[in-house]
Amino acid sequence: MTLTGIEIYKYLPKTNCAECAIPTCLAFAMNVAAGKLALEKCPYLSKEIRVTLTDASAPPVRPVNFGTGDFLVKLGNDGVLYRHEKRFENPTALGLLLSSNDSPNQIDAQIESFKQNRYERMGSSLHADYFYVEDSEKTDPSAFVELAQKASLHGALMLCTSLPSTLEKALEKVAIHKPLIGSAGTENLDLFAALAIKYQLPLALIVTSTAQATLLSQKAQNLGVKDLVFSVGAASMREALHLCIEIRTKAIVDKNKFLGFPTILYPCAFTADLKEETLLATVLMAKYASGVVLSNFKAETLYPLLTARQNIYTDPQRPLTMPSGIYPIGNPTPDSPVILSCNFSLTYYIVSAEIGNSAVPAYFIIKDTEGLSVLTAWAAGKFSADSIAAFVKKSGISEKVNHRRLIVPGFISVESGSLEEALGDWQVIVGPTNAADLPAFLKSTYL
Ligand code: SF4
Repeated sequence: MTLTGIEIYKYLPKTNCAECAIPTCLAFAMNVAAGKLALEKCPYLSKEIRVTLTDASAPPVRPVNFGTGDFLVKLGNDGVLYRHEKRFENPTALGLLLSSNDSPNQIDAQIESFKQNRYERMGSSLHADYFYVEDSEKTDPSAFVELAQKASLHGALMLCTSLPSTLEKALEKVAIHKPLIGSAGTENLDLFAALAIKYQLPLALIVTSTAQATLLSQKAQNLGVKDLVFSVGAASMREALHLCIEIRTKAIVDKNKFLGFPTILYPCAFTADLKEETLLATVLMAKYASGVVLSNFKAETLYPLLTARQNIYTDPQRPLTMPSGIYPIGNPTPDSPVILSCNFSLTYYIVSAEIGNSAVPAYFIIKDTEGLSVLTAWAAGKFSADSIAAFVKKSGISEKVNHRRLIVPGFISVESGSLEEALGDWQVIVGPTNAADLPAFLKSTYL
């Protein structure tokens, strides 16, 4: 249950000493409740109070991490059912299935597709996150151990076997990479929990109902395992989706702390068709899967999935932005045109793509409009003549070109006169209203 500022305040010393750099204990409590400050900033809280407050203020769906360094995977940490209430926190982690039963060629091809399918979109790097390393249990345990070692060089690991002895052999080699381990059921929970505690690793529990999930979670916590993940087993996509939603709803709405853990789901179990599998993964991603496991990655299926993930996990209250500044496109020279726009990411990517399509090298200069699009920013007073002039003068573009011609978006043509006046020595040229018309506009003027 998330605590309010007033509830946190009750535990504070109330001396208003300001050693936390906040003038009063109440203001400190409000900042902690809003997630802006850590409890550690107050040096006067006992360890017991800190533990009590940390436990009490944990989000309904606990954060669980696995992997290390560049391969760190973050799951959970959510407190809402709908992203308009507050953004969803950690994006659904995408896992790729590797089985110890696969041939060396198949494994190499899978790892290669994991490594190669990486994309840049809207200023973010999009890629898959982890390998789901499955013990086929038909082969010698050493095949599983070797597979885990090989995969650990390229991504985070989720290690899955029903045999604790095989898991321990693998952990002797790869525990250093902090894998998520599993999957524990009713019969072998004690042994898996012992390994999770010994190696300080998160543990995946196989669950097929919320009643079973509650029971297993309770037992695992009593055994001392705090970082849990529900590995959702289901006979059909319908059941899997239903269970995933039920777990999340009971964790958040009913505040069932035994169900407040991330979930991993397996769209690869419900179809042999990769496109359908990807579609199912998208549905699960939209309805609370913290991680999904896919049988294969192909550019034409992974990229749409990554795009959907990026859209679901952006903050709806904050537009995606590009840093304000000068963006050279196509090796511009001092004679190249200077084109102005706002820093809404979508605008940046659409306009920069059209400048690229024109084959006219240019300086694309981006003014900070707090992520608002051109018309909205203009209507809000963030793309006015005065503010644009101040930005252009400060930007350093005058040192890069030997002319003084600035192309502005057609939507702010009404500002052109005032902008020329504010800039002094620049000529303001009104460009097209639609980005799609930029190539023809640039070609007719500069080629
Ligand atoms: Fe209050 Fe602690 Fe901050 Fe001092 S350091 S003002 S006691 S919260």
